[in-house]
Amino acid sequence: MEYRRLGQAGIELSALGFGTWITFGDQLDIKAAKSCMSKARELGVNFFDTAESYADGVAESITGQVLAGVRREDIVVATKLFWGGEGPNRTGLSRKHLTEGIDGSLKRLGMEYVDLLFCHRPDPETPIEETVLAMDSIVRSGKALYWGTSEWSAASIREAVRIAREYRTIPPVVEQPQYNVLVRERVEREYIPLFEEFGIGATTWSPLASGLLTGKYLAGVPEPSRLANQRWLRDMYTKNDFLGRETAGKVKRLCALAAELGCTPAQLALAWCLRNPRVSSVLTGASRIEQIEENLAALEVVDRLDNEVIDRIDEIFDNRPA
Ligand code: NDP
Repeated sequence: MEYRRLGQAGIELSALGFGTWITFGDQLDIKAAKSCMSKARELGVNFFDTAESYADGVAESITGQVLAGVRREDIVVATKLFWGGEGPNRTGLSRKHLTEGIDGSLKRLGMEYVDLLFCHRPDPETPIEETVLAMDSIVRSGKALYWGTSEWSAASIREAVRIAREYRTIPPVVEQPQYNVLVRERVEREYIPLFEEFGIGATTWSPLASGLLTGKYLAGVPEPSRLANQRWLRDMYTKNDFLGRETAGKVKRLCALAAELGCTPAQLALAWCLRNPRVSSVLTGASRIEQIEENLAALEVVDRLDNEVIDRIDEIFDNRPA
């Protein structure tokens, strides 16, 4: 396993991390989750990601139970706050929800602190200043070691850093954006000034576009699979044409390129993310141990992605940000 710094921060994360979205508490019970996490740890993963909203808190509980007994120094645990449940003060990034939300997450995780705490989405109803000062209080209280944002605009992150500097408080050090061969604009264009000026790190999500880039959906939606289980995601992918003929044609070409390179399409898609030095950790997800074994071997494929291969991928997807 390779370990990377989180941007300019000192903490080191495995280049491939392991997340719990849709899987823990949904597809995977505690026994299956334990097998998957143990396999990931055995292969060198130290970074585990969850959120208060995943399976309504059950993903955090399972994560905590599985990691209980593991030396705390050996793992980096992230959680995310925003969607805490029904009711006016259980969502968003108000001081109230963040203060109560972190306590709920730590209780479910059975931990004294998380390493990374994310604001899961921007909250246009709450002043950024309130959020920045609340996150500063949480980090100073020792309940989180670093904080960051997920899917915030570069302008909002810049404003958060400005406010933190003005008040001499702890700034965000990491963003968690989607990043894969289909979705690359934010990481490769919008956030570049943030990486360069502030040394922001990136823990990126859905490297396989929920499995689409493995080629498993080329002949329809197989059972069992994420898109078979999650109707809303299937509808969303249909709407944005990820399941249409044009994307299928591109994925087919990606699969052919992977075969030429002697790897699987999943490994090629993951290696493509890993090749970007701005990425601190590529968060993977899996419903089965075999997927973890296949995906973590992507590190061995990175060297095969020379400029010619990268150009061919650019040509297939035709979406390289200007
Ligand atoms: P992926 O895009 O890699 O999708 C993972 C899913 O794809 C698996 O659960 C599995 O689903 C399928 N899959 C994985 N590997 C293979 C393989 N080798 N062959 C075939 N199918 C495979 O990542 P996620 O979307 O899960 O994102 C990773 C993590 O990022 C999440 O767990 C979460 O922690 C985080 N995240 C953060 C978000 C945010 O807003 N900050 C949003 C989304 C995710 P199946 O077998 O069921 O088809």
